[in-house]
Formats: sequence, C-alpha cells, structure tokens
Amino acid sequence: TYTIAEPCVDVLDKACVEECPVDCIYEGNRMLYIQPDECVDCGACEPVCPVEAIFYEDDVPDQWSDYINANVEFFNDL
Ligand code: SF4
Repeated sequence: TYTIAEPCVDVLDKACVEECPVDCIYEGNRMLYIQPDECVDCGACEPVCPVEAIFYEDDVPDQWSDYINANVEFFNDL
C-alpha cells in the first residue's frame, strides 16, 4: 500500500484525492490517510502531492516510518 507521511500535516492539499481511482484517500483532522485495504498500489497519488508526502510503504523515509501505522490505525479507530 501507499502511505501518507508528515509533510501532509496541516496541508491537506487533496490533489491526491482527485487522482485516486478507487477513492481510498480519506480526510482526518490534520492530514489525509490512505485506506490500506482499498489502495490498489497504482501510484497515481504520489506524483501529484505538492509536498511529496506520499510514499510506497517500502520507500517511506525512516524518520516517518510511524506514519505507516498511523495510516492503518486511523481506519481501525473509525
Ligand atoms: Fe489511491 Fe493509487 Fe494512491 Fe493507492 S496508490 S491511494 S489506489 S491513487
């Protein structure tokens, strides 16, 4: 799955939401989250993010690795 990391916090540009073919990007209080079970790994969201917040899970920079779990937990808490 793809995941959204820290650069999205308080930005929520939503260019990715427009681009996602399966509408699996959801809005939280301070950032957007990708629903991991719905993401089809198409990669369409990654290049359109103006703050480069979106990464394939294996490519998330180490300092933002917690955001992989944060994306999952956001949907567990719904
Ligand atoms: Fe949506 Fe594709 Fe991005 Fe997954 S990789 S969140 S399916 S645009």
